[in-house]
Amino acid sequence: MLTGKTALVTGSTSGIGLGIAKALAAQGANIVLNGFGDVDGPKTEVAALGVQVAYHGADMSRPEEIEALMSFSAERFGRIDILVNNAGIQHVSRIESFPPERWDAIIAINLSSAFHTTRLALPAMQAAGWGRIINLASVHGLVASAEKSAYVAAKHGLVGLTKVTALENASSGVTCNAICPGWVLTPLVQKQVDAKAAALGLSNDEAVALILGEKEPSKTFTTPEELGALAVFFCSPAGNNVRGVAWNMDGGWVAQ
Ligand code: NAD
Repeated sequence: MLTGKTALVTGSTSGIGLGIAKALAAQGANIVLNGFGDVDGPKTEVAALGVQVAYHGADMSRPEEIEALMSFSAERFGRIDILVNNAGIQHVSRIESFPPERWDAIIAINLSSAFHTTRLALPAMQAAGWGRIINLASVHGLVASAEKSAYVAAKHGLVGLTKVTALENASSGVTCNAICPGWVLTPLVQKQVDAKAAALGLSNDEAVALILGEKEPSKTFTTPEELGALAVFFCSPAGNNVRGVAWNMDGGWVAQ
């Protein structure tokens, strides 16, 4: 379905981003990977799906590196047809003790990077008359939790950016939507499980049960594969007129 198209997925060396990159590659899209840590493993996993893969290590907190990533992608594949703004970090602390530099980093990576990639990707999508922008927000783009001020602020902002992007392109073939997962067991969440286990003297399984039990009625994690399938739907013809939604996949979290 996506053969001949190119998808850039930011923060795709791990977790949800890698899951979405693989789901889009399975539909035939060439992939630009981005992110830190092991690169060869993710590159091999995506290439095994029979598509072309490139990697750029831009730090998504730095606008000039984002510009380099976008130029690199355009030079390598001609243009980006599908942009998945996924890179994100977390820090958990009450506001009065929240380190200002962590606030700045979260706003830069989880929110401002999506503005920069979007502004740079849109002209080619508009000229082509087709494009998909998918923003990885969170249930925390819709509701709040204590001790996650920067993350909740950034994700609410990202849902707002999603709506504006969708509206400004509503009469074209360019759509923009947000995905709002509840808990997904990735390295980002394992850190929170480890912190809970250490603070309360719990085993890993006990900490997982506590975390899921607090807010996620299904008491199960959403998987990167399930989120990848939703991204594929947004890219399918059935998604042509889905514009500006914030689609939660959260085990019932925000239904409460
Ligand atoms: P993860 O830690 O597994 O992956 C994050 C990715 O972002 C990695 O590839 C990492 O290298 C990359 N990254 C981090 N900082 C970066 C930077 N400055 N520049 C470039 N890349 C950078 O996390 P994840 O759980 O897969 O999270 C992916 C996205 O999904 C995030 O935006 C997160 O907020 C969102 N999300 C996650 C969950 C969850 O439960 N895991 C729930 C809702 C939303």
